Amino acid sequence: MINRIICYLIFVFTPLSVFAQSAPPLSGLKALGAPNNPKVEVAWNRYYDWKGVTEIVQRMAAAYPNLCTVESIGKSFEGRDLWAITITNRETGKDTEKPAMYVDAAIHANEIQAVEVSLYTAWYLLETYTTNSFVKELVDTRTFYIIPGESPDSRDKFMHSAANPHAPRSGQVPRDDDGDGLMNEDAADDLNGDGQITQMRIKTDGGRWKISPDDSRLMIRCKQDEVGDYEVFQSEGFDNDGDGLINEDGDGYYDPNRNWAWNWQPHYKQFGADYYPFCLPETRAISQFIAAHPNIIGGQSFHNAGGMILRGPGAKEDVIESNDGELFDLLGKKGEELLPGYRFMITWKDLYSVFGGENDWMYATQGILPFTNELWTPFNMFRQKPDKDNLFGDDEQQYLFDKTLLFGDAIVPWQEVDHPQLGKVEVGGVKKTFTRMPPSFLLEEECHRNMAFVFWHAYNLPKLKVLDVKTKPLGSDLTEVTATILNERSIPTRLAVDVKNNITRPDWVTLKGGTAITGGIRNSRYDKTFTEQKSRPQRLEVPSVQGSSTVIVTWIAKGTGPFSIDVDSQKGGKVSGAAR
Ligand SMILES: [Zn+2]
Repeated sequence: MINRIICYLIFVFTPLSVFAQSAPPLSGLKALGAPNNPKVEVAWNRYYDWKGVTEIVQRMAAAYPNLCTVESIGKSFEGRDLWAITITNRETGKDTEKPAMYVDAAIHANEIQAVEVSLYTAWYLLETYTTNSFVKELVDTRTFYIIPGESPDSRDKFMHSAANPHAPRSGQVPRDDDGDGLMNEDAADDLNGDGQITQMRIKTDGGRWKISPDDSRLMIRCKQDEVGDYEVFQSEGFDNDGDGLINEDGDGYYDPNRNWAWNWQPHYKQFGADYYPFCLPETRAISQFIAAHPNIIGGQSFHNAGGMILRGPGAKEDVIESNDGELFDLLGKKGEELLPGYRFMITWKDLYSVFGGENDWMYATQGILPFTNELWTPFNMFRQKPDKDNLFGDDEQQYLFDKTLLFGDAIVPWQEVDHPQLGKVEVGGVKKTFTRMPPSFLLEEECHRNMAFVFWHAYNLPKLKVLDVKTKPLGSDLTEVTATILNERSIPTRLAVDVKNNITRPDWVTLKGGTAITGGIRNSRYDKTFTEQKSRPQRLEVPSVQGSSTVIVTWIAKGTGPFSIDVDSQKGGKVSGAAR
């Protein structure tokens, strides 16, 4: 059940500490692009656990009751609320009656900064609404639905337990990964108790690893013609269940971004697909929220890492209709300008095949234009283009960045510990917050640039306007009524995939002020012929108003007016116009 949080309730239950933060700002000068004296102070150089995320969304709803509501759209497996933030100016219309931009984050929980990017986007819309006319127009004419985290259980596990940069990627529903009848019985272990799952190394004559000559902390693989002196295990841990394997059954494992009901394939074809589409509480609640808001037409999912702006299809056999492909290209290229070091890519062709992915489901079943951004590019370290084959940057670069800009904060030095099965081993290596997430001084930039990509997408959502309604008396109480409807932006009111497959209903254009005898859509702007709608011409069905284009509708009506028209598009919003 949807539990809508009403703002005055939040006001009543808001702890006093929230208000204590509204102290006057220190004297000085506002930096460009920042809100002036924000009502909700948030530090954007750190990462928030689910309690922190919950506080931020509730403070935003309390501070901006006219622009922002927060609701719980369901519970995660462990019972955490899945939040949905709705942002629009309610005085200019209901959220459901405006074109909507949907944003979500971190379906893979270890892709941590995705949550901050989505929260920053919500916060910036609210905090700059009154001072920035670009933002004001977005909030007045569009709706933003933001799900600031899709896997809260594993986010808290990542933050409050030992973890490495790559896990937990799965949610916390237990699964038997190795078929021994036990679930999650052999996860990684934090041998030195520092909260990090790093690497393990053992000095071994004839091993395949050696110490890097450039940085004594870094282990590198030996070349084919080299004999090394170490073995390296990528993950700290021991054989918890005595089956001879180390770390073979940890959190999960399933992949929530392979659990969506489009081209879903079983686990043996698509690793991590789980039992059947939407069998997970989180994917089910989020898909129901999206499906319940057919006004969503723009979509954005935030992941990490590698600096990618991904568009579908996820699988080679899936089709992106050509007009939709052009829209992806238009926005994707814009994204490359806004996000230095990011590449615009097609998932199956330039990355790998995805079956049962969220974005493909959004496009093919909901008629939404979705992007997936893989946040954090190694370009950010030294402003150098990463190697095409190594989007994550190489180890040498990461260690150099740590040494010269983070002064050693990102790497755990090697430390000897007793391993229950292997004897003396050393543990050390990158911390969980390194290699996929920005350090503090680059986090705000990552939030801001990716938010700008969302803003330009939202700006390009359809924006309808009735240019004119013209009438011509025909005698005998009959009038010809003609109206021109303009879409001022580049995304049509229904994508090509939507029109082709009848995903949502057509746009409705209704004549008011007389009874339509006949009516239809004009064949061209300068040609008076029209395609007649034989049934119920009073409410014409327009397949789509294309981007930056007009549609002319015409009627012969009984009556002499005054006439007006109502345009009602599920994804393009509602507008009206009257004859003058
Ligand atoms: Zn991901």
